[in-house]
Amino acid sequence: MEFSIDEKTQTILEMIREFMTKEVYPLEPFFLGKSFKEMKPKLGAAREKVKQMELWAPQLPKELGGVGIGFMGYALCCEEIGRSPIGPYIFGSQAPDAGNIEILAKYATPEQRERWLKPLIAGEIRSCFSMTEPEFAGSNPTEMATTAKKDGNDYVINGHKWFTSSADGAAFAVVMAVTNPGAESPYSRASMIIVPSGAPGFELVRNIPVMGHAGDDYASHGEILYRNCRVPQANLLGPEGQGFLIAQERLGPGRIHHCMRYIGIAQRSLEMMCAYAAKRDVGGGKTLATKQIVQEWIAESRAEIHASRLMVLHAAWKIDTQGAYEAREEISLIKFYTANVMLRVIDRAIQVHGGLGVSDDTILSFFYRNERAARIYDGADEVHKVVVAKRLLRRYQTPGK
Ligand SMILES: Cc1cc2nc3c(=O)[nH]c(=O)nc-3n(C[C@H](O)[C@H](O)[C@H](O)COP(=O)(O)OP(=O)(O)OC[C@H]3O[C@@H](n4cnc5c(N)ncnc54)[C@H](O)[C@@H]3O)c2cc1C
Repeated sequence: MEFSIDEKTQTILEMIREFMTKEVYPLEPFFLGKSFKEMKPKLGAAREKVKQMELWAPQLPKELGGVGIGFMGYALCCEEIGRSPIGPYIFGSQAPDAGNIEILAKYATPEQRERWLKPLIAGEIRSCFSMTEPEFAGSNPTEMATTAKKDGNDYVINGHKWFTSSADGAAFAVVMAVTNPGAESPYSRASMIIVPSGAPGFELVRNIPVMGHAGDDYASHGEILYRNCRVPQANLLGPEGQGFLIAQERLGPGRIHHCMRYIGIAQRSLEMMCAYAAKRDVGGGKTLATKQIVQEWIAESRAEIHASRLMVLHAAWKIDTQGAYEAREEISLIKFYTANVMLRVIDRAIQVHGGLGVSDDTILSFFYRNERAARIYDGADEVHKVVVAKRLLRRYQTPGK
Protein backbone atom coordinates (compact mmCIF):
# COMPACT_ATOMS: atom_id res chain seq x y z
CA MET A 1 0.00 0.00 0.00
CA GLU A 2 1.42 3.37 -1.00
CA PHE A 3 -0.06 6.52 0.53
CA SER A 4 2.42 9.13 -0.68
CA ILE A 5 1.52 11.61 -3.39
CA ASP A 6 3.99 12.13 -6.23
CA GLU A 7 5.76 15.46 -6.57
CA LYS A 8 3.95 16.64 -9.68
CA THR A 9 0.50 16.01 -8.18
CA GLN A 10 1.60 17.63 -4.91
CA THR A 11 2.69 20.77 -6.77
CA ILE A 12 -0.59 20.92 -8.67
CA LEU A 13 -2.59 20.45 -5.47
CA GLU A 14 -0.69 23.31 -3.83
CA MET A 15 -1.33 25.56 -6.84
CA ILE A 16 -5.04 24.71 -6.70
CA ARG A 17 -5.18 25.36 -2.93
CA GLU A 18 -3.59 28.78 -3.36
CA PHE A 19 -5.89 29.67 -6.25
CA MET A 20 -8.96 28.59 -4.25
CA THR A 21 -7.93 30.83 -1.34
CA LYS A 22 -6.97 33.88 -3.39
CA GLU A 23 -9.45 33.76 -6.27
CA VAL A 24 -12.36 31.39 -5.65
CA TYR A 25 -13.54 31.82 -2.03
CA PRO A 26 -13.67 35.63 -2.39
CA LEU A 27 -16.19 35.19 -5.24
CA GLU A 28 -18.59 33.11 -3.13
CA PRO A 29 -20.50 36.00 -1.51
CA PHE A 30 -21.39 37.25 -5.02
CA PHE A 31 -22.47 33.76 -6.06
CA LEU A 32 -24.67 33.30 -3.00
CA GLY A 33 -26.49 36.58 -3.55
CA LYS A 34 -26.94 36.55 -7.32
CA SER A 35 -28.22 34.46 -10.18
CA PHE A 36 -25.62 32.39 -11.98
CA LYS A 37 -25.99 34.47 -15.17
CA GLU A 38 -25.07 37.61 -13.26
CA MET A 39 -21.98 35.88 -11.91
CA LYS A 40 -20.75 34.68 -15.29
CA PRO A 41 -18.36 37.55 -16.14
CA LYS A 42 -16.54 37.14 -12.81
CA LEU A 43 -16.46 33.35 -13.16
CA GLY A 44 -15.28 33.69 -16.77
CA ALA A 45 -12.35 35.85 -15.66
CA ALA A 46 -11.38 33.24 -13.04
CA ARG A 47 -11.62 30.50 -15.69
CA GLU A 48 -9.19 32.39 -17.91
CA LYS A 49 -6.66 32.58 -15.05
CA VAL A 50 -7.02 28.82 -14.48
CA LYS A 51 -6.31 28.20 -18.16
CA GLN A 52 -3.24 30.45 -18.06
CA MET A 53 -1.93 28.48 -15.08
CA GLU A 54 -2.50 25.24 -17.04
CA LEU A 55 -4.83 23.91 -14.36
CA TRP A 56 -7.86 23.68 -16.67
CA ALA A 57 -9.73 20.34 -16.79
CA PRO A 58 -7.72 18.25 -14.31
CA GLN A 59 -9.87 15.23 -15.24
CA LEU A 60 -8.53 15.10 -18.79
CA PRO A 61 -5.30 13.86 -20.34
CA LYS A 62 -3.01 16.45 -21.91
CA GLU A 63 -3.86 15.39 -25.46
CA LEU A 64 -7.50 16.35 -24.82
CA GLY A 65 -6.55 19.72 -23.36
CA GLY A 66 -6.43 18.77 -19.67
CA VAL A 67 -3.81 18.72 -16.91
CA GLY A 68 -2.81 15.10 -17.47
CA ILE A 69 -2.30 13.84 -13.92
CA GLY A 70 -4.20 10.55 -14.18
CA PHE A 71 -7.29 9.37 -12.40
CA MET A 72 -5.86 9.25 -8.85
CA GLY A 73 -4.38 12.72 -9.24
CA TYR A 74 -7.71 13.98 -10.47
CA ALA A 75 -9.51 12.41 -7.48
CA LEU A 76 -7.22 14.39 -5.14
CA CYS A 77 -7.82 17.59 -7.12
CA CYS A 78 -11.59 17.09 -6.80
CA GLU A 79 -11.36 17.42 -3.03
CA GLU A 80 -9.58 20.78 -3.27
CA ILE A 81 -11.74 22.16 -6.08
CA GLY A 82 -14.95 20.79 -4.54
CA ARG A 83 -14.50 22.87 -1.37
CA SER A 84 -16.40 25.64 -3.13
CA PRO A 85 -19.66 25.26 -5.09
CA ILE A 86 -18.14 27.36 -7.87
CA GLY A 87 -14.78 25.52 -7.90
CA PRO A 88 -15.61 22.79 -10.44
CA TYR A 89 -17.07 25.34 -12.89
CA ILE A 90 -14.01 27.57 -12.60
CA PHE A 91 -11.63 24.65 -13.18
CA GLY A 92 -13.64 23.17 -16.09
CA SER A 93 -14.43 19.92 -14.29
CA GLN A 94 -18.10 20.51 -13.48
CA ALA A 95 -20.86 17.94 -13.75
CA PRO A 96 -22.56 17.11 -16.04
CA ASP A 97 -20.07 18.38 -18.64
CA ALA A 98 -17.19 16.29 -17.28
CA GLY A 99 -19.23 13.10 -17.66
CA ASN A 100 -20.46 14.06 -21.12
CA ILE A 101 -16.91 14.87 -22.21
CA GLU A 102 -15.87 11.41 -21.07
CA ILE A 103 -18.57 9.75 -23.18
CA LEU A 104 -17.94 11.94 -26.21
CA ALA A 105 -14.18 11.35 -26.00
CA LYS A 106 -14.85 7.62 -26.17
CA TYR A 107 -17.81 7.37 -28.57
CA ALA A 108 -18.16 10.57 -30.63
CA THR A 109 -17.78 10.42 -34.40
CA PRO A 110 -15.19 12.80 -35.95
CA GLU A 111 -18.03 15.25 -36.79
CA GLN A 112 -19.45 15.06 -33.24
CA ARG A 113 -15.98 15.65 -31.79
CA GLU A 114 -15.53 18.74 -33.90
CA ARG A 115 -18.96 20.22 -33.24
CA TRP A 116 -19.56 19.27 -29.58
CA LEU A 117 -16.53 17.82 -27.84
CA LYS A 118 -13.93 20.44 -28.69
CA PRO A 119 -15.96 23.50 -27.61
CA LEU A 120 -17.19 21.61 -24.53
CA ILE A 121 -13.65 20.88 -23.39
CA ALA A 122 -12.66 24.49 -24.05
CA GLY A 123 -15.56 25.67 -21.86
CA GLU A 124 -17.10 27.59 -24.77
CA ILE A 125 -20.39 25.71 -24.50
CA ARG A 126 -22.18 23.71 -21.81
CA SER A 127 -24.18 20.48 -21.96
CA CYS A 128 -26.67 18.45 -19.92
CA PHE A 129 -27.69 14.84 -19.44
CA SER A 130 -31.40 14.09 -19.81
CA MET A 131 -32.50 10.71 -18.48
CA THR A 132 -34.85 10.95 -15.48
CA GLU A 133 -38.59 11.25 -16.12
CA PRO A 134 -41.22 12.50 -13.66
CA GLU A 135 -43.62 9.66 -14.39
CA PHE A 136 -41.14 6.84 -13.66
CA ALA A 137 -38.84 5.94 -10.76
CA GLY A 138 -35.45 7.41 -11.62
CA SER A 139 -33.93 4.67 -9.45
CA ASN A 140 -34.87 2.21 -12.17
CA PRO A 141 -34.21 4.23 -15.33
CA THR A 142 -34.70 1.26 -17.66
CA GLU A 143 -38.39 2.11 -17.35
CA MET A 144 -38.82 5.22 -19.45
CA ALA A 145 -41.40 6.53 -21.89
CA THR A 146 -39.20 8.74 -24.06
CA THR A 147 -38.89 7.29 -27.54
CA ALA A 148 -36.73 8.11 -30.57
CA LYS A 149 -38.25 6.80 -33.79
CA LYS A 150 -36.50 6.79 -37.15
CA ASP A 151 -38.04 8.94 -39.85
CA GLY A 152 -36.02 9.36 -43.05
CA ASN A 153 -32.52 10.39 -41.93
CA ASP A 154 -33.77 11.67 -38.59
CA TYR A 155 -34.79 10.53 -35.14
CA VAL A 156 -38.07 11.98 -33.90
CA ILE A 157 -37.99 12.18 -30.10
CA ASN A 158 -41.04 12.37 -27.84
CA GLY A 159 -40.85 12.42 -24.08
CA HIS A 160 -40.87 14.28 -20.79
CA LYS A 161 -37.74 14.65 -18.65
CA TRP A 162 -36.94 16.45 -15.43
CA PHE A 163 -33.97 17.17 -13.23
CA THR A 164 -31.86 17.65 -16.33
CA SER A 165 -29.16 19.59 -14.47
CA SER A 166 -27.70 22.66 -16.18
CA ALA A 167 -30.23 22.45 -19.06
CA ASP A 168 -30.85 26.21 -19.00
CA GLY A 169 -28.40 27.67 -21.51
CA ALA A 170 -26.84 24.32 -22.44
CA ALA A 171 -25.90 23.99 -26.11
CA PHE A 172 -27.02 20.37 -26.21
CA ALA A 173 -28.50 17.54 -24.17
CA VAL A 174 -27.40 13.93 -24.21
CA VAL A 175 -30.86 12.36 -24.20
CA MET A 176 -31.65 8.78 -23.21
CA ALA A 177 -34.50 7.53 -25.37
CA VAL A 178 -35.92 4.13 -26.29
CA THR A 179 -34.83 3.21 -29.82
CA ASN A 180 -35.12 -0.58 -29.57
CA PRO A 181 -38.38 -1.31 -27.69
CA GLY A 182 -38.35 -4.95 -28.80
CA ALA A 183 -34.94 -5.78 -27.33
CA GLU A 184 -35.11 -8.66 -24.87
CA SER A 185 -32.99 -7.04 -22.16
CA PRO A 186 -34.35 -3.77 -20.70
CA TYR A 187 -30.72 -2.60 -20.70
CA SER A 188 -30.57 -2.80 -24.52
CA ARG A 189 -33.61 -0.69 -25.37
CA ALA A 190 -32.33 2.87 -24.98
CA SER A 191 -29.72 4.92 -26.82
CA MET A 192 -27.93 8.18 -26.21
CA ILE A 193 -28.72 10.90 -28.70
CA ILE A 194 -27.23 14.38 -28.92
CA VAL A 195 -30.05 16.93 -29.05
CA PRO A 196 -29.10 20.58 -29.62
CA SER A 197 -31.21 22.83 -27.39
CA GLY A 198 -32.19 24.78 -30.52
CA ALA A 199 -33.65 21.68 -32.21
CA PRO A 200 -37.30 21.98 -33.24
CA GLY A 201 -39.46 20.43 -30.50
CA PHE A 202 -36.96 20.96 -27.62
CA GLU A 203 -38.87 22.84 -24.94
CA LEU A 204 -37.40 23.86 -21.59
CA VAL A 205 -40.58 24.06 -19.50
CA ARG A 206 -39.01 25.50 -16.34
CA ASN A 207 -36.08 25.50 -14.00
CA ILE A 208 -37.32 23.36 -11.10
CA PRO A 209 -37.05 25.17 -7.77
CA VAL A 210 -34.96 23.01 -5.42
CA MET A 211 -35.03 23.69 -1.67
CA GLY A 212 -36.76 26.98 -2.34
CA HIS A 213 -34.34 28.13 -5.00
CA ALA A 214 -34.86 27.98 -8.77
CA GLY A 215 -31.31 28.18 -10.03
CA ASP A 216 -30.52 29.41 -13.50
CA ASP A 217 -28.00 28.66 -16.22
CA TYR A 218 -25.37 26.17 -15.04
CA ALA A 219 -27.05 26.02 -11.59
CA SER A 220 -30.43 24.93 -13.00
CA HIS A 221 -32.40 21.68 -13.01
CA GLY A 222 -34.59 21.64 -16.10
CA GLU A 223 -37.94 20.11 -16.84
CA ILE A 224 -37.96 19.45 -20.58
CA LEU A 225 -40.54 18.37 -23.12
CA TYR A 226 -39.37 16.72 -26.34
CA ARG A 227 -42.30 17.15 -28.72
CA ASN A 228 -41.65 15.58 -32.11
CA CYS A 229 -38.11 16.80 -31.57
CA ARG A 230 -36.21 16.11 -34.76
CA VAL A 231 -32.45 15.47 -34.96
CA PRO A 232 -30.32 13.72 -37.61
CA GLN A 233 -29.58 10.04 -37.00
CA ALA A 234 -25.93 11.10 -37.16
CA ASN A 235 -26.49 12.48 -33.63
CA LEU A 236 -26.60 8.96 -32.18
CA LEU A 237 -23.84 8.72 -29.58
CA GLY A 238 -22.26 5.27 -29.45
CA PRO A 239 -23.98 2.13 -30.70
CA GLU A 240 -27.77 2.00 -30.83
CA GLY A 241 -29.33 0.26 -27.81
CA GLN A 242 -26.16 0.68 -25.72
CA GLY A 243 -27.28 3.78 -23.80
CA PHE A 244 -27.30 2.09 -20.39
CA LEU A 245 -23.98 0.41 -20.90
CA ILE A 246 -22.42 3.77 -21.76
CA ALA A 247 -24.27 5.48 -18.87
CA GLN A 248 -22.78 2.96 -16.47
CA GLU A 249 -19.27 3.82 -17.66
CA ARG A 250 -20.04 7.47 -17.03
CA LEU A 251 -21.33 6.98 -13.51
CA GLY A 252 -18.33 5.16 -11.96
CA PRO A 253 -15.72 7.89 -12.41
CA GLY A 254 -18.46 10.52 -11.90
CA ARG A 255 -19.13 9.17 -8.43
CA ILE A 256 -15.44 9.50 -7.53
CA HIS A 257 -15.69 13.13 -8.59
CA HIS A 258 -18.79 13.72 -6.46
CA CYS A 259 -17.53 11.80 -3.42
CA MET A 260 -14.18 13.64 -3.34
CA ARG A 261 -16.14 16.87 -3.70
CA TYR A 262 -18.25 15.83 -0.68
CA ILE A 263 -15.04 15.26 1.27
CA GLY A 264 -13.82 18.73 0.29
CA ILE A 265 -17.07 20.23 1.59
CA ALA A 266 -16.92 18.16 4.80
CA GLN A 267 -13.26 19.10 5.36
CA ARG A 268 -13.99 22.80 4.88
CA SER A 269 -17.00 22.59 7.22
CA LEU A 270 -14.80 20.89 9.84
CA GLU A 271 -12.16 23.63 9.51
CA MET A 272 -14.87 26.27 9.94
CA MET A 273 -16.25 24.39 12.95
CA CYS A 274 -12.82 24.30 14.62
CA ALA A 275 -12.02 27.94 13.85
CA TYR A 276 -15.35 29.14 15.23
CA ALA A 277 -15.22 26.88 18.31
CA ALA A 278 -11.73 28.15 19.10
CA LYS A 279 -12.76 31.82 19.05
CA ARG A 280 -16.39 31.82 20.27
CA ASP A 281 -16.51 32.89 23.92
CA VAL A 282 -19.49 31.25 25.62
CA GLY A 283 -19.08 32.92 29.00
CA GLY A 284 -16.68 32.76 31.90
CA GLY A 285 -13.79 33.35 29.52
CA LYS A 286 -14.31 29.90 28.02
CA THR A 287 -14.65 29.16 24.34
CA LEU A 288 -16.84 26.55 22.67
CA ALA A 289 -13.66 24.57 22.03
CA THR A 290 -13.47 23.75 25.75
CA LYS A 291 -16.81 21.91 25.66
CA GLN A 292 -16.49 18.15 25.42
CA ILE A 293 -19.56 17.76 23.23
CA VAL A 294 -17.98 20.04 20.63
CA GLN A 295 -14.70 18.17 20.93
CA GLU A 296 -16.60 14.96 20.24
CA TRP A 297 -18.17 16.41 17.10
CA ILE A 298 -14.74 17.52 15.94
CA ALA A 299 -13.12 14.14 16.61
CA GLU A 300 -16.00 12.19 15.04
CA SER A 301 -15.93 14.43 11.97
CA ARG A 302 -12.17 14.08 11.60
CA ALA A 303 -12.41 10.27 11.80
CA GLU A 304 -15.33 10.04 9.38
CA ILE A 305 -13.68 12.33 6.83
CA HIS A 306 -10.42 10.39 7.03
CA ALA A 307 -12.25 7.08 6.57
CA SER A 308 -14.24 8.51 3.64
CA ARG A 309 -11.13 9.82 1.91
CA LEU A 310 -9.37 6.46 2.16
CA MET A 311 -12.47 4.64 0.92
CA VAL A 312 -12.86 6.90 -2.09
CA LEU A 313 -9.19 6.77 -3.02
CA HIS A 314 -9.32 2.98 -2.76
CA ALA A 315 -12.38 2.89 -5.05
CA ALA A 316 -10.58 5.25 -7.47
CA TRP A 317 -7.54 2.97 -7.45
CA LYS A 318 -9.75 -0.04 -8.15
CA ILE A 319 -11.51 1.72 -11.07
CA ASP A 320 -8.12 2.78 -12.39
CA THR A 321 -6.55 -0.68 -12.17
CA GLN A 322 -9.52 -3.04 -12.70
CA GLY A 323 -12.26 -0.95 -14.33
CA ALA A 324 -15.59 0.47 -13.10
CA TYR A 325 -17.41 -2.87 -13.41
CA GLU A 326 -15.08 -4.64 -10.97
CA ALA A 327 -15.30 -1.69 -8.58
CA ARG A 328 -19.10 -1.47 -8.45
CA GLU A 329 -19.38 -2.58 -4.81
CA GLU A 330 -16.77 -0.02 -3.71
CA ILE A 331 -18.50 2.66 -5.80
CA SER A 332 -21.82 1.94 -4.07
CA LEU A 333 -20.15 1.97 -0.64
CA ILE A 334 -18.57 5.38 -1.10
CA LYS A 335 -21.65 6.95 -2.68
CA PHE A 336 -23.94 6.51 0.34
CA TYR A 337 -21.23 6.62 3.01
CA THR A 338 -19.50 9.86 2.01
CA ALA A 339 -22.77 11.69 1.24
CA ASN A 340 -23.96 10.98 4.79
CA VAL A 341 -20.61 11.89 6.36
CA MET A 342 -20.68 15.20 4.51
CA LEU A 343 -24.22 16.00 5.66
CA ARG A 344 -23.44 15.06 9.29
CA VAL A 345 -20.33 17.27 9.34
CA ILE A 346 -22.14 20.23 7.76
CA ASP A 347 -24.90 19.81 10.36
CA ARG A 348 -22.41 19.77 13.27
CA ALA A 349 -20.62 22.83 11.86
CA ILE A 350 -23.94 24.69 11.64
CA GLN A 351 -24.78 23.71 15.23
CA VAL A 352 -21.45 25.07 16.46
CA HIS A 353 -22.07 28.35 14.62
CA GLY A 354 -25.50 28.75 16.24
CA GLY A 355 -27.71 31.36 14.52
CA LEU A 356 -24.81 32.39 12.31
CA GLY A 357 -24.78 28.83 10.96
CA VAL A 358 -28.26 29.06 9.47
CA SER A 359 -27.69 32.59 8.13
CA ASP A 360 -26.34 33.18 4.66
CA ASP A 361 -23.31 34.98 6.14
CA THR A 362 -21.29 31.77 5.88
CA ILE A 363 -21.26 29.11 3.15
CA LEU A 364 -22.60 26.47 5.59
CA SER A 365 -26.31 27.08 5.01
CA PHE A 366 -25.78 26.87 1.24
CA PHE A 367 -23.98 23.55 1.72
CA TYR A 368 -26.82 22.29 3.91
CA ARG A 369 -29.50 23.11 1.31
CA ASN A 370 -27.57 22.28 -1.82
CA GLU A 371 -25.95 19.04 -0.75
CA ARG A 372 -29.03 17.29 0.65
CA ALA A 373 -29.63 16.03 -2.88
CA ALA A 374 -26.39 14.02 -2.64
CA ARG A 375 -28.34 11.21 -0.96
CA ILE A 376 -30.72 11.04 -3.95
CA TYR A 377 -29.00 11.66 -7.32
CA ASP A 378 -26.56 9.19 -8.89
CA GLY A 379 -28.39 6.45 -7.01
CA ALA A 380 -30.29 7.03 -3.77
CA ASP A 381 -28.67 5.75 -0.53
CA GLU A 382 -31.11 2.87 -0.31
CA VAL A 383 -30.37 1.65 -3.84
CA HIS A 384 -26.62 1.57 -3.18
CA LYS A 385 -27.12 -0.14 0.19
CA VAL A 386 -29.22 -2.82 -1.49
CA VAL A 387 -26.45 -3.39 -4.07
CA VAL A 388 -23.82 -3.87 -1.36
CA ALA A 389 -25.99 -6.02 0.91
CA LYS A 390 -27.19 -8.27 -1.94
CA ARG A 391 -23.63 -8.93 -3.09
CA LEU A 392 -22.54 -9.81 0.44
CA LEU A 393 -25.58 -11.96 1.16
CA ARG A 394 -25.19 -13.89 -2.07
CA ARG A 395 -22.07 -15.52 -0.66
CA TYR A 396 -24.12 -16.84 2.29
CA GLN A 397 -27.27 -17.70 0.36
CA THR A 398 -25.34 -19.53 -2.36
CA PRO A 399 -22.15 -20.86 -0.74
CA GLY A 400 -19.16 -20.87 -3.07
CA LYS A 401 -20.21 -17.67 -4.95
C1 LIG B 1 -30.13 17.79 -7.63
C2 LIG B 1 -30.43 16.70 -8.59
C3 LIG B 1 -29.80 16.65 -9.82
C4 LIG B 1 -30.12 15.67 -10.75
N1 LIG B 1 -29.52 15.71 -11.97
C5 LIG B 1 -29.95 14.85 -12.93
C6 LIG B 1 -29.46 14.97 -14.27
O1 LIG B 1 -28.62 15.82 -14.59
N2 LIG B 1 -29.97 14.14 -15.22
C7 LIG B 1 -30.90 13.18 -14.91
O2 LIG B 1 -31.31 12.45 -15.82
N3 LIG B 1 -31.36 13.04 -13.65
C8 LIG B 1 -30.93 13.85 -12.67
N4 LIG B 1 -31.44 13.76 -11.39
C9 LIG B 1 -32.43 12.75 -11.09
C10 LIG B 1 -31.91 11.65 -10.20
O3 LIG B 1 -31.08 10.80 -10.95
C11 LIG B 1 -33.13 10.93 -9.59
O4 LIG B 1 -33.78 11.86 -8.71
C12 LIG B 1 -32.72 9.68 -8.82
O5 LIG B 1 -32.28 8.68 -9.70
C13 LIG B 1 -33.91 9.11 -8.01
O6 LIG B 1 -35.02 8.96 -8.83
P1 LIG B 1 -36.43 9.56 -8.39
O7 LIG B 1 -36.25 10.97 -7.98
O8 LIG B 1 -37.40 9.26 -9.46
O9 LIG B 1 -36.82 8.75 -7.08
P2 LIG B 1 -37.48 7.28 -7.04
O10 LIG B 1 -36.75 6.36 -7.94
O11 LIG B 1 -38.94 7.43 -7.22
O12 LIG B 1 -37.15 6.86 -5.56
C14 LIG B 1 -37.72 7.55 -4.43
C15 LIG B 1 -37.09 7.02 -3.18
O13 LIG B 1 -37.43 5.66 -3.05
C16 LIG B 1 -36.38 4.91 -2.48
N5 LIG B 1 -36.03 3.80 -3.38
C17 LIG B 1 -36.04 3.80 -4.72
N6 LIG B 1 -35.68 2.59 -5.21
C18 LIG B 1 -35.45 1.80 -4.16
C19 LIG B 1 -35.01 0.46 -3.98
N7 LIG B 1 -34.72 -0.32 -5.03
N8 LIG B 1 -34.87 -0.01 -2.72
C20 LIG B 1 -35.12 0.77 -1.65
N9 LIG B 1 -35.52 2.05 -1.75
C21 LIG B 1 -35.68 2.57 -2.97
C22 LIG B 1 -35.22 5.89 -2.28
O14 LIG B 1 -35.25 6.33 -0.95
C23 LIG B 1 -35.55 7.05 -3.19
O15 LIG B 1 -35.03 8.26 -2.70
C24 LIG B 1 -31.09 14.70 -10.42
C25 LIG B 1 -31.71 14.72 -9.17
C26 LIG B 1 -31.41 15.70 -8.26
C27 LIG B 1 -32.11 15.71 -6.93
